Amino acid sequence: MVILGIESTAHTASVGIVTERAEVLGLATDMFRPVRGGIHPREAANHHVEVLPGLVRRALDTARVRPTEIDAVAFAQGPGLGPCLRAGATVARTLSLVWNRPLVPVNHCVAHVEIARVLSGMDDPMLLYASGGNTQVIAHHSGRYRVLGETLDIGVGNFLDKLWIALGGTFPGGPPLEKEARQGEELLPLPYSVHGMDVAFSGIYTASLAHAGRGARRPDIALSVESTAYSMLTEITERALAHRRRESVVLGGGVACNERLRGMVRAMVEGRGGTSFAPPPSLCVDNGAMIAWTGLLALRAGLSVPVKASAVDPRQRTDLVPAPWRRL
Ligand code: AMP
Ligand code: MG
Repeated sequence: MVILGIESTAHTASVGIVTERAEVLGLATDMFRPVRGGIHPREAANHHVEVLPGLVRRALDTARVRPTEIDAVAFAQGPGLGPCLRAGATVARTLSLVWNRPLVPVNHCVAHVEIARVLSGMDDPMLLYASGGNTQVIAHHSGRYRVLGETLDIGVGNFLDKLWIALGGTFPGGPPLEKEARQGEELLPLPYSVHGMDVAFSGIYTASLAHAGRGARRPDIALSVESTAYSMLTEITERALAHRRRESVVLGGGVACNERLRGMVRAMVEGRGGTSFAPPPSLCVDNGAMIAWTGLLALRAGLSVPVKASAVDPRQRTDLVPAPWRRL
């Protein structure tokens, strides 16, 4: 079976083609980069409308697959920015109708779990999903993926981006902040906001800007922000592991590309006798391959929909979509 998947929940438009052995035959990705400031949903959606047809062609070409060989079309139904989701869904519906193939809606967060799960070879890991818009600790229980802990304000990636822009940089902020943090020497005091298994970032944001206002070096701010924010994420992941009696962790989301975060989670998990795994960066960030792979699992479980029942859901919760392909 060969599935084509379309991702368009936020700034990234991506098309992936995946087989039932989870081989990624083709993956074409194009990220919207605003000239100034953050992402405007309609500008990002216009970008997706422009690039998606070309990405479909590129993915098919690299995969050396003809449209007639595609067995189904999957798309990210939510959560995400409404206009962006609709751009991807419209392309998916069109392909499904023109190629006469089933249409499969996929939850974006569940897709991050499933791609990491299949690549890791782990049966039932916990996921630390750290991306731009989302920050969640997720585990499977009784037919669904459950959110055990999450951000109480903004996603960790959006927080890093916003902070980096306020410090004079441009979007995206995570990668340059990681580089800057390597030059950091001094740890500055920042609020450490863990509330049970949830986290919050707004206090670190305000305190970091206050440090900048008092003339702190940017590398020291970057080092302090990374150390504090990633310690918080590592702590809630450990709490979730202890509560759910799990051993292994997989990482997903753009922030999971970060070496410091990967290292901290690895040290914590190995200290508990378990293992951690992070997909390669191209499959950590938003990508069409994870949508295609999860679409394949969903299709096998009978979860395709007619076009008229394929509305997007910008607020779709991880724990409200069934995952019947998993054992209970
Ligand atoms: P996603 O929403 O999953 O596509 O991921 C995008 C987010 O990941 C943006 O907020 C980026 O700033 C962030 N990001 C990407 N690479 C890194 C990195 N190496 N360290 C920290 N954050 C990163
Ligand atoms: Mg994502």
